[in-house]
Amino acid sequence: LQSTYETIKDLKTATIDNHEVHLAANIGVDLDIQEALDANASGIGLLRTENQYLESDDFPTEDELFIFYEKVATSFETNEVTIRTLDIGGDKNLSYLNMRKELNPFLGNRAIRYSLSYPSLFKTQLRAILRANTHQNIKVMFPMISTLKELMDAKKILDETYQALKIEGHEVNYPKIGMMVEVPSAALGIEKFLPHIDFISIGTNDLIQYMFAADRMNERVAYLYQPYNPILLSTIKSMIDKTNKHGIIVSVCGEMAGHKAQSLLLIGLGIKHLSMHANLILENKYLISKTTYKALEEIAEKALLLDHPYEVEALINTYIKGLK
Ligand code: PEP
Ligand code: MG
Repeated sequence: LQSTYETIKDLKTATIDNHEVHLAANIGVDLDIQEALDANASGIGLLRTENQYLESDDFPTEDELFIFYEKVATSFETNEVTIRTLDIGGDKNLSYLNMRKELNPFLGNRAIRYSLSYPSLFKTQLRAILRANTHQNIKVMFPMISTLKELMDAKKILDETYQALKIEGHEVNYPKIGMMVEVPSAALGIEKFLPHIDFISIGTNDLIQYMFAADRMNERVAYLYQPYNPILLSTIKSMIDKTNKHGIIVSVCGEMAGHKAQSLLLIGLGIKHLSMHANLILENKYLISKTTYKALEEIAEKALLLDHPYEVEALINTYIKGLK
């Protein structure tokens, strides 16, 4: 199988009936860069920037952040690199920061909320991102947006940072701007956000957690964490339809994107951009090359009409088993 993967590596990812799909990589640390290059990822769909903050004993400096971002942007010079601003809080705490104890950290001061409550910290990161955009391939993505105001506030700080860098004499390129959709309010109200952004990426890990109100870390409620639930799938479907109408790219970067059966469902629903751990790219690419888009569309359509997640799971798995 490994040698089969090698032979398809440089081909585009497409179904038998020539429906093209783009498989990008999720990365978080320096070592991931080579793995993503080796898998011939179509770019970076999600750069999780938390690691640099979690690994050091103090806030990383602008230059430390810049060096890493610039390295990633240069490594994928001809492809797009989506840098997600800090997604701290929830289960990820910084030891050097006296983060207040919260009763419900996943519903607390997390991700964009955290960045907006510490603008100077946010600006340092945005400066590093903007300075690293020398190849004009960087896209900036805000995590956990739940209201339009948050998006507008984040964009305002990005604008101010851009202007400040220009005044200082830096040659900066304005990046494309997008948001993660991982909170039900954003998923259901996506049309309000679309006029203000260039792309969205669906974070299914959190979207599932928040839709079914089931902590993604809590095993006792793991049975409610339902990627195959038709309610989730129809929410995703309706986002795809709305973003397509606006001509905006929609990708998925949660675990569902790299899960073979679930990613086929997403493709059937109309997703053309998936971002996953690099070590999953070739196996997904191979499986996709065995399918037809026509069949995936039909399966997705049927799935939306089913009542229970186990029925959807059986439907897609039966299809996969029948593939040659
Ligand atoms: C997600 O929520 O799906 C996601 C990709 O973000 P993270 O897993 O980093 O919360
Ligand atoms: Mg998330």
